[in-house]
Amino acid sequence: MLIVMKSGATEEEISRVADAIRELGFRPHIMPGATRTAIGLTGNQGALDPVQFENLPGVAEAIRVSKPYKLVTLDLRPEKTVVKVGETSIGGDEFAIIAGPCAVESRESTFAIAEAVRRSGAKFFRGGACKPRTSPYAFQGLGDEGWKILSEVRENFGLKIVAEALDESSLDQAEQHVDVIQIGARNMQNFSLLRRAGRSKLPILLKRGMAAMLDEWLLAAEYIMAEGNYAVVLCERGVRTFAQHTRNTLDLASIPAVRHISHLPVIVDPSHGTGKNYMVTPLACAGAAAGADGLIVEVHNDPPRALSDGAQALTFAEYQQLVDEVTAIRQVVSARQSRVAHPR
Ligand code: PEP
Ligand code: MN
Repeated sequence: MLIVMKSGATEEEISRVADAIRELGFRPHIMPGATRTAIGLTGNQGALDPVQFENLPGVAEAIRVSKPYKLVTLDLRPEKTVVKVGETSIGGDEFAIIAGPCAVESRESTFAIAEAVRRSGAKFFRGGACKPRTSPYAFQGLGDEGWKILSEVRENFGLKIVAEALDESSLDQAEQHVDVIQIGARNMQNFSLLRRAGRSKLPILLKRGMAAMLDEWLLAAEYIMAEGNYAVVLCERGVRTFAQHTRNTLDLASIPAVRHISHLPVIVDPSHGTGKNYMVTPLACAGAAAGADGLIVEVHNDPPRALSDGAQALTFAEYQQLVDEVTAIRQVVSARQSRVAHPR
């Protein structure tokens, strides 16, 4: 159920609707918008009668939601969500660039990479302290030491930190050290982890599972939002196909597809999306051209010696070239978007 308040509805009227929802044993999700506030209702198993809400003061209409997701949709929030990360944001006018190594390997290399990222003008630094590796014998991340190094990057370089939490205990740790928590492709349907992320105060970067359909990805976001965390950024990172020329197939169509349904920001990951260093910049440009709100990209001071994902890591010079190209494309795209009223 979605309850749309009249444009002039008062705070009191909004709270009264929220209370009525709670009294029925359900959860209200209040979404203020530019022209009106909407209240999503979750927790009901069967259909509810809209009339009981429509009779409350300040309510314009109560709508049954037929789609499987409620909180991620444009029906609830017609304006795009801007996810605030301190004084910066993802989903606003500025294209968000998140760059850094796949894994935090040492203080020295991480600082060298952070310096290159800061120099490029990017506001976000990525780097894993715990890594989901296919082989149990591969480098798993520095753990505690890695989290500490990430905190130091935040302090010394003023960059916002994005890092993956693999499980509930690493999510506890991430909350102490980072600004945005990444849920990786392999965990996109780890429902207890999604629920835990939904109880976090930090924004969540939710990667698309490598075999996930759009609905499954959006429902994973819905898990997080249903717990009360509305600061979710979606990330397209490629899916498994029969293609052998790339590690994954970066599904650029998912960007307009998400936009068509959801108010959440969506970014691209051309590093995992291709797996090959020389493909990263072209696909980053394509993502920007397709209307992504930002990108997450792997950069390394010495890619051939990287402890994970070296084949897709950019050198500093390649990374700077990517930033220059993406910035130029983004200027064209935002000029175009400001002329197009609604992409429906
Ligand atoms: C990563 O960002 O390093 C990573 C492991 O990503 P994904 O979950 O998309 O594979
Ligand atoms: Mn990686």
